[in-house]
Amino acid sequence: MLNKEIKEKLRAIVGTEHVLDANLDRFGYSYDSSFVPLLPANKPDVVVRPRTTAEVAAVMALANEHSIPVTPRGAASGRTGGSIPLAGGISLALDRMTSIVEFDEKNMMVTVEAGVRTIDLYNFGAERGLFYPPDPASWKFSTIGGNIAENAGGMRAVKYGVTTNYVMGLEVVLADGTVIHTGGKAIKNVTGYDLTSLFTGSEGTLGVITKAILRLIPMPKLRNTLQLMFPSLDDACNTIHKMLQSGVIPAAAELMDKTCIQAVARHRKMDIDPAIEACVVIEIDADDTEALAKQSKQIEEIAKSFYVVEVRIAASPQEAEDIWAIRRGLSSAVGAMAPNRLGEDISVPRDAFPEIVRRIRGISEKYRLPIAVYGHAGDGNIHPSVLCDLSNEEEAARVHQAVDEIFAAALAVGGTLSGEHGIGITKRDYIVSALGEGGVRTLKAIKQALDPKGILNPGKIWN
Ligand SMILES: Cc1cc2nc3c(=O)[nH]c(=O)nc-3n(C[C@H](O)[C@H](O)[C@H](O)COP(=O)(O)OP(=O)(O)OC[C@H]3O[C@@H](n4cnc5c(N)ncnc54)[C@H](O)[C@@H]3O)c2cc1C
Repeated sequence: MLNKEIKEKLRAIVGTEHVLDANLDRFGYSYDSSFVPLLPANKPDVVVRPRTTAEVAAVMALANEHSIPVTPRGAASGRTGGSIPLAGGISLALDRMTSIVEFDEKNMMVTVEAGVRTIDLYNFGAERGLFYPPDPASWKFSTIGGNIAENAGGMRAVKYGVTTNYVMGLEVVLADGTVIHTGGKAIKNVTGYDLTSLFTGSEGTLGVITKAILRLIPMPKLRNTLQLMFPSLDDACNTIHKMLQSGVIPAAAELMDKTCIQAVARHRKMDIDPAIEACVVIEIDADDTEALAKQSKQIEEIAKSFYVVEVRIAASPQEAEDIWAIRRGLSSAVGAMAPNRLGEDISVPRDAFPEIVRRIRGISEKYRLPIAVYGHAGDGNIHPSVLCDLSNEEEAARVHQAVDEIFAAALAVGGTLSGEHGIGITKRDYIVSALGEGGVRTLKAIKQALDPKGILNPGKIWN
């Protein structure tokens, strides 16, 4: 399908050095940060690294003409296998498109190319007193294109929302190479269908995002961090609900269950009371010290009314950093507990948080598998991690049953399959249970209209 002649045409479009077809290069583009196993069949035939929108458009037109599969790729930090080229063809790496094209100070907006790293955008804003809030934990390496394609979230979602809340407009190259522009800088815009939202979260299946207009907000002047320890999970969750109801909206409210706390204690050689069932880490921000202190006080009082046993309010930026280091180090601490860790990403209504954690505990007991639960309790997004040894066939079968039941439990309490990582390959078998036959038919109709030959990221979202 992808013969010598086509490779020559690709070289003519992007330059010889930006078309990679050595076996080792192809291997390097055959996996991402998900738990999808390495398979030789997932190697692309060729890796193409365009620099401009015109080059992306020319690559897509050529691929469409010859029905060659194209899998867009940012930093490959995706957790659901989205950038794995299941059908071979072209791995379209956007990592050379790294310009911040325009800074519009008056409108507080930036136009960036898709390959800009999230942290670079954050720093660009911060140097100008502005704030780009979406903060996936992968922000040091993930790209804005990948963030938009997955509608990435992060810890600050509870107060500031997720990627889609900052995307004003997009430049997208469609499957046939047509370049379109959606949305724009106008804040109110109801001209036609909301294509900006459609492409946001489309996981590289509807078009290649080449540029984005993103809004920034003023950077809060002050921040502080609190760590609360509870002997009961319900009390920890009730503290968060009460806090939000009382009008204290934290920038982040993260919860770790007992398995996580014990993992961190072991990893960092800390002594933590074994009676502690839940740890909540909260970040607050404000523009003056008085407002910040008022929020801390309110949170402390609410936590006390729910029997908190330890309240630590960071007395310095260093102490705040130390508290967050525990949360950030959680993934490796939990990962060190077993040969394999199957991390999931479900999302439930906020009030269902204790119920879903209880159900996950039941699943953990039923299948005799430790499951560590942590998540963004402020917005109901939970990451259960099944700790296991997948080389043991009998155990691997139990793991798959446990994961099936976790998804079923999420749906049963009114939640959904993914809060921020998308569907990709790993959850595609569950999509009908979440959206129903009619819902999936609607997705397929949209796909058919925009990509009739099905060349963009085939095999993702549904099987
Ligand atoms: C340690 C770690 C922590 C993480 N924490 C979070 C978190 O807190 N919150 C969160 O939401 N996610 C998190 N993730 C998941 C991941 O980082 C995000 O999904 C991120 O948005 C992916 O960006 P990327 O550039 O790596 O995209 P990739 O992984 O390369 O691609 C992801 C998907 O987007 C598509 N895509 C990429 N670029 C484009 C483009 N320009 N146009 C069209 N489609 C494109 C790909 O085809 C693929 O389907 C984490 C991952 C890791 C490894």
